[in-house]
Amino acid sequence: MENKLENSNLYLIKLGEISLKGLNRSFFEKKLKNNIKLKIHPYHSLLLREKGRFYLSVDKNCPEETVKKALSSTFGIAGFSKAVTCSKEWETIRKTAVDLISAAPFSDGTGTFKVEARRAHKQFPMNSYKIEAELGGVVLERYPDMKVDVHNPQKILYVEIRNEVYMYTSPIDGCGGIPVGVSGRGLLLLSGGIDSPVAGWRMAKRGLKLDCLYFHAYPYTSDQALQKVKDLAKLLGPSLQGTTLDVVNFTDAELWIKDHSKEDEHTLMMRAAMIKVADIIAKKRKCKVLVTGEALGQVASQTLEAMCFTSSMTDIPVLRPLVGMDKQEIIETARKIGTYDTSILPYDDCCVVFSPKHPLVRPDSETEKSSFSKMNIDDILIKCADEATEYEISYRV
Ligand code: ATP
Ligand code: MG
Repeated sequence: MENKLENSNLYLIKLGEISLKGLNRSFFEKKLKNNIKLKIHPYHSLLLREKGRFYLSVDKNCPEETVKKALSSTFGIAGFSKAVTCSKEWETIRKTAVDLISAAPFSDGTGTFKVEARRAHKQFPMNSYKIEAELGGVVLERYPDMKVDVHNPQKILYVEIRNEVYMYTSPIDGCGGIPVGVSGRGLLLLSGGIDSPVAGWRMAKRGLKLDCLYFHAYPYTSDQALQKVKDLAKLLGPSLQGTTLDVVNFTDAELWIKDHSKEDEHTLMMRAAMIKVADIIAKKRKCKVLVTGEALGQVASQTLEAMCFTSSMTDIPVLRPLVGMDKQEIIETARKIGTYDTSILPYDDCCVVFSPKHPLVRPDSETEKSSFSKMNIDDILIKCADEATEYEISYRV
């Protein structure tokens, strides 16, 4: 079978956890294949599978930067590299290696290097050690000033002998995880803060396909606060393989809560109301779980008691992927995934605007459930859910 398109660039993709899967591996691989192809569309591409690897051949018109961004943001990929390929005759391998090292990072002809060979095709007459030694010689012939350093080289020439020979010099780390979509669908409560984008990213990394939900309380929360959440959703878009953002106008509900509950219960009642609306929207969207950015003990509304209470407002499980993380660890992830700078823009969300001075920290679930039902807020919440505005967020890189 032909393994690449005419006039194309070739990328070798290393699969992470997927290669460890048993019977459902082909389901995982198929999802990953579709997720990759979607991001490169409309450029023509061909993706072939071989044990633990994908070979992606993409129309040369597709900018390399686009392919790199697409692959770096696709969960299920451990790493990838632009590669060249040739047949298994030694003279061809040699020539291909010379061509490859004529480009960066080898082209300046200085520093240390090693050759790393892998012989998956066991009939190949040379073993890995011999391949490394011979090609090392080729590099030194071309660049006499370079030095071999097998322990800590500045540059590496990778060679894989399979049905064909693949060579590359600049592997890029992927984001790991498993392909978005293999774990089903969830609804992410996305606020403008630091935590919830990280929570969403982490669940997408475990294969969850996410829709997003934001509670907006205009004019108590500004249009900039909404724009910030849209921007965060856009930043997450490629990792989430695209998503939707439902924006709920929450002003009536918040004012109702303010007038119909005790001040120290405001935050809890508001959290409970959010979960009720999320429950309705999740069921409409066939989401099997809710996802929030809560971390145990981070703020008054994130005590064990408070989380147990809010969870009791829905029969859908509430996943809190950050529950055991320190704020500093969450911030580091936010920086890594590129949401931090947007998250810290100073536009408050509704919770901050309405939060009481002394919120209840250790609520009793039964008491709060009864306070909640006494508010008679259900109709308002149903209306909130019905009137949500939906935005489509692209998967494009
Ligand atoms: P974040 O940094 O995610 O805003 P936070 O530390 O500010 O979290 P809270 O304000 O207590 O914590 O919110 C806890 C979680 O509730 C958030 O992580 C998010 O999942 C959800 N949430 C809070 N406010 C909103 C909102 N306006 N719209 C949607 N979800 C929200
Ligand atoms: Mg917040």
